[in-house]
Amino acid sequence: MSKHFVPENLPTHLQHYIGGQFVDSIGGETFDVLDPVTNTNYATAAAGQKADIDAAVAAATEAFKNGPWPTMSPRARAKVLYKIADAVVAQEDRLAEMETFDTGLPITQARGQAQRAAENFRFFADLIVAQHDTALKVPGSQLNYVNRKPIGVAGLITPWNTPFMLESWKLAPSIASGCTVVLKPAEFTPLSASLWATIFEEAGLPAGVFNLVNGIGEEAGDALVKHPKVPLISFTGESSTGQLIFRNCAENLKGMSMELGGKSPAIVFADADFDAAIDSTLFGVFSLNGERCTAGSRILVQRPIYNKFVEAYAARAKSITVGDPHDPATQVGALVHPEHYDKVMSYVEIGKSEGRVVAGGGRPENLPEGQENGSYVAPTVFVDVAPDARIFQEEIFGPVVAITPFDTDEEALELANNTRYGLAAYIWTNDLKRAHNFAQDVEAGMVWLNSHNVRDLRSPFGGVKASGLGHEGGYRSIDFYTDQQAVHITL
Ligand code: NAD
Repeated sequence: MSKHFVPENLPTHLQHYIGGQFVDSIGGETFDVLDPVTNTNYATAAAGQKADIDAAVAAATEAFKNGPWPTMSPRARAKVLYKIADAVVAQEDRLAEMETFDTGLPITQARGQAQRAAENFRFFADLIVAQHDTALKVPGSQLNYVNRKPIGVAGLITPWNTPFMLESWKLAPSIASGCTVVLKPAEFTPLSASLWATIFEEAGLPAGVFNLVNGIGEEAGDALVKHPKVPLISFTGESSTGQLIFRNCAENLKGMSMELGGKSPAIVFADADFDAAIDSTLFGVFSLNGERCTAGSRILVQRPIYNKFVEAYAARAKSITVGDPHDPATQVGALVHPEHYDKVMSYVEIGKSEGRVVAGGGRPENLPEGQENGSYVAPTVFVDVAPDARIFQEEIFGPVVAITPFDTDEEALELANNTRYGLAAYIWTNDLKRAHNFAQDVEAGMVWLNSHNVRDLRSPFGGVKASGLGHEGGYRSIDFYTDQQAVHITL
């Protein structure tokens, strides 16, 4: 019998939330939900089908057409959003326990997710109150103004990494803009999404504004994407899923925001602050179990410091504590699901013929009692990896990194841009001119110079190439969820 931590009052069944009511699937379908440290099922969840999506879209449409939310003043909406933020913070401990239990994320990294989620609601509350649109007057001739209107029912489809926080990225701006929504959370991790309904209800969000349908991507997700009364889809997930959704949205010419996969480079020049670069590049791929879209999963190191870097990096990777996600000493927990574990492990095997293993390379030793079957992978470092290697090109989304040497700035740039992805890039150098020129040329939606993980919520978030379409962040998110109608008057 496992001794692992189980949150108090853990639900054994997760329902949809439609039109202000918790409900099961109309046809009674369910799917199993497991915890990744024992890989045993702990709950069932309602598995949404087309009929359930139809019911959720009907409730959201009714709330959009006849409910108060879309036409409430920004100030009145902001007051509710602030209450939501407070309610999210009040759930901080519960949320951290749930995320750790359901996703395998180390508890120290699960804490803080509630604060970040709450900040999204406060931020968009402030933004809609401060928002103004242009009015243009041609004296004696005409007046033109922008009439901003929420678009309608927004379909929100989210992945399993830091699920609650990523759901807040979409929920906060869509609801703030006056849209009503149907959220389809990831099937691997539906637990924390079950908190939203009560949070919204208690904060006074009118029934029908928020609707949640659990289910499998190819069933519930697909029905949401294809629903003719859902004019826009905000999707975060794998690039291949994004491509399929893009095709399926074409039928109804839907608005789309796509935050997709990555294979982001961290480029370390010989003149960089060595210790800071080591700390940051370890954080970049081993925090959040490596299940981070912006993971710096390719490290390019300039030749004069290459051997020193590899040695220091491998030593640090070997000293990372892997184990029970609920233990505060744990730095890397269990991967989210056995299917994902198999994928990551297959890359570990592929990597053995593509590079030299200097840390990890399999399951960690000494797993906690009762967790021997958990989805654990030792932090794995491959070095001398060639740019055409699969582990250099493909997103692994786990605690696995490829390190490659370079000589010149030109070579570093060529290597950095040599993938289909373009989400993030991290540049380590003390040469200011080089840093800014490299940022200009690197094909990435976001660049961190001598830093990581800092982002003001006003700045754009998104990728280029196969990493995404459109940018979220600040007014860009509001623009996505609203129509800017142009009104013209002849004077
Ligand atoms: P995924 O694409 O497998 O699933 C994401 C969501 O899409 C899930 O809710 C899933 O049920 C749903 N889905 C799957 N097939 C669908 C279909 N045919 N129609 C409609 N919905 C469908 O991704 P994942 O494995 O859950 O998440 C990991 C991926 O997400 C990684 O590639 C990661 O880089 C990416 N990600 C990107 C960002 C970003 O901001 N760019 C952030 C986090 C994660």
